[in-house]
Amino acid sequence: MSDKRDYYEVLGVSKGADDKELKKAFRSLARKYHPDKNDAPDADEKFKEIQEAYAVLSDSDKRRNYDRFGHNMPGGSPFGPGGFQGFNINLEDILGGDFFSNIFGGGRRRSTQSQGNDILVRHEISLEAVLTGGKDEIEIDLPVTCKECDGTGAKDGVTTECSECDGAGQVRIRQQIGPFVQDSIRPCPQCDGSGRVFASRCKACAGDGRQTESQVIRFNIPPGAQDGTRLRMRGKGQPAPFGKGIPGDLFIELIIEEHPWFERNGMDLIMSLPLGFSDLALGTSVTLPHIDDKKLVIKVPAGTSSGDTITISSRGVPSSRGIGRGDVVVLCKLHMPKKLDKSTKKSLEQLRESLGGKGDIIDRLIEDAEERRR
Ligand SMILES: [Zn+2]
Ligand SMILES: [Zn+2]
Repeated sequence: MSDKRDYYEVLGVSKGADDKELKKAFRSLARKYHPDKNDAPDADEKFKEIQEAYAVLSDSDKRRNYDRFGHNMPGGSPFGPGGFQGFNINLEDILGGDFFSNIFGGGRRRSTQSQGNDILVRHEISLEAVLTGGKDEIEIDLPVTCKECDGTGAKDGVTTECSECDGAGQVRIRQQIGPFVQDSIRPCPQCDGSGRVFASRCKACAGDGRQTESQVIRFNIPPGAQDGTRLRMRGKGQPAPFGKGIPGDLFIELIIEEHPWFERNGMDLIMSLPLGFSDLALGTSVTLPHIDDKKLVIKVPAGTSSGDTITISSRGVPSSRGIGRGDVVVLCKLHMPKKLDKSTKKSLEQLRESLGGKGDIIDRLIEDAEERRR
């Protein structure tokens, strides 16, 4: 059912590996395959695979499930129907160890404190901005803790302890399922898990404890940013519920605007250049405005065929490390006019005669095939 690699094998550890061994294996593999450090085309996939394996094995519940069922866990992927999506992790975070507690929630952050949700916004940037990187900003409405009630949702912030849960915010519910008795802990329905209740609502936020506020968020575009790169602004997401705990994060996803003629292929920029027959036969030089503010000069040699490519080195986009640039690859294409007037038609017929008439198609086929073999 699944052709995924075994998680233990991915991390190169034994089935009995403890947390320390897992962390060590993950750290050294993540360092090796982090897309910022590794340009190999499969580095991204590898990195995601390593993250997924670690996310499962470092979580004792997920690991127990995986040990029993392998990849065919009941209920499908523990990461939801879309499967594991990967995280954008800074290399420094891995080296610093910061993200072990932040991303996977293994540390103190998630277990004792409640956290607001993350927010994702998409932001379009030009290809020119990818080349140089640099500062950018967006103005957006973001949820913030209501200042009137300090996030409690209560009028003037006045609350009293919930009598249902004695302020714990949680209640134990005993359920009889067939012959089994099951105890489970749920957020208290009386106070929605806050542990506090209030007689009248805060007017400013209608009891929600949050307001929206227009904010200007400034950030740096990394040179060589890929379409879909996510920048993380810590603590700029939704505030934690009831004004307690820590806010979520804001992610800015960079969407790269389409360029009128360039298509991006990794670090290279690819374009097709429509040229007339005479330009291909006699050669020509084409000058275009370029994303680096310097002119792009394309020298088409005489005798170029439709389908030939011309590579202009180091005029593409930089790598995500910002070092070196890819190439511009120009695909030459014969541009055929849709309509011909009488005199042009006549000159073309004369041209055909001078080029040896309609010629022998068999000869041309053989010549063409020989050229391809060379
Ligand atoms: Zn309020
Ligand atoms: Zn309660």
